[in-house]
Amino acid sequence: MSQPLADSRASHSADATAMPSRRVLVVEDEDAIARGLVFNLERKGYEVALEVEGRSALQRAQDERWDLIVLDVQLPGIDGFRICQQLRLDHDRVPILILTARDQPDDIVYGLKTGADDYMVKPFDLAEFLARVESLLRRQDWGGGGTTDDPSFEVERLEFGDFWVDFKTYRAGTITGEVELPKKELEVLRVFAEKPGEVVTRRELLDRVWELPNHPNERVVDNVIVSLRKSFEVDSSDPRYILSVRGVGYRFAP
Ligand code: CA
Repeated sequence: MSQPLADSRASHSADATAMPSRRVLVVEDEDAIARGLVFNLERKGYEVALEVEGRSALQRAQDERWDLIVLDVQLPGIDGFRICQQLRLDHDRVPILILTARDQPDDIVYGLKTGADDYMVKPFDLAEFLARVESLLRRQDWGGGGTTDDPSFEVERLEFGDFWVDFKTYRAGTITGEVELPKKELEVLRVFAEKPGEVVTRRELLDRVWELPNHPNERVVDNVIVSLRKSFEVDSSDPRYILSVRGVGYRFAP
C-alpha cells in the first residue's frame, strides 16, 4: 500500500553529515507510512519526531520548535486541516507539508487555504517528497525564521548595475533609493540570482516562490515582475536586467 516509501534512491548517507540538523515533526497514523517517512527523513540527517494522534500532535507542534511539520489529514482526534488552521491562528509560521490520500481539488484548495505551504497526495514518490521537504526548509531560511547555516544557501547579496539587494534584511537599493522589498519580490530575485543569464519559467517561479506548482494563474508572477521592473529598471518598458522570454518566462541579465 505504501510501497513508494520503500524506495530510498534519493537518500545518500553523506547527506547526514552535510546537512545541519533540522527538526521535523511527522504526524501520520498509518504505521507503515509513518515508519517509512521517519526512516527516510532521518537518513537525510533530520531530527525526526512522530505523532500518531491529532490532539497530541497539535500539542507537540505548539510546545516545541520545529523547522517543518509533515501532516496527514485523516487522523484520530482532530484532523490535519484543523491542526494546520490552529497553528496559523497561533501565528506559527512553521512550514507545513500536508500528506493525504484525498485527491479532490476542493480538498487541495482547502488544505492550502488553511495555511499549508505544500500538499502531496498519497501514494507519492519518495524522491519528490524529499525534494519538497528540502525546498520548504530552504524557503524557511529565506524567510529569516530558520537557521542559515545550510551550505547550499550562499547568495546573501545581489548587485547589478547601480542596484543591490540584501536577502537577509529584505533591503534593496532601487531607482527610488533604499526600500524594503515585499517577500515575493525578494524571493523572485533570489531565484534569478541563482541563475544569472538563464531562462526561468513562470512555472518554476510559481513552484518556488508561490508554493503552488499547479496554480492555474501565472499572472501573479507577471505582476511581481512589473513591480520589480519599477524598482530596478530605468525604463520598465525597455528592461535592461529583467528580460521577458516570450511565452516561457524571464531571464535575469546582471
Ligand atoms: Ca491517516
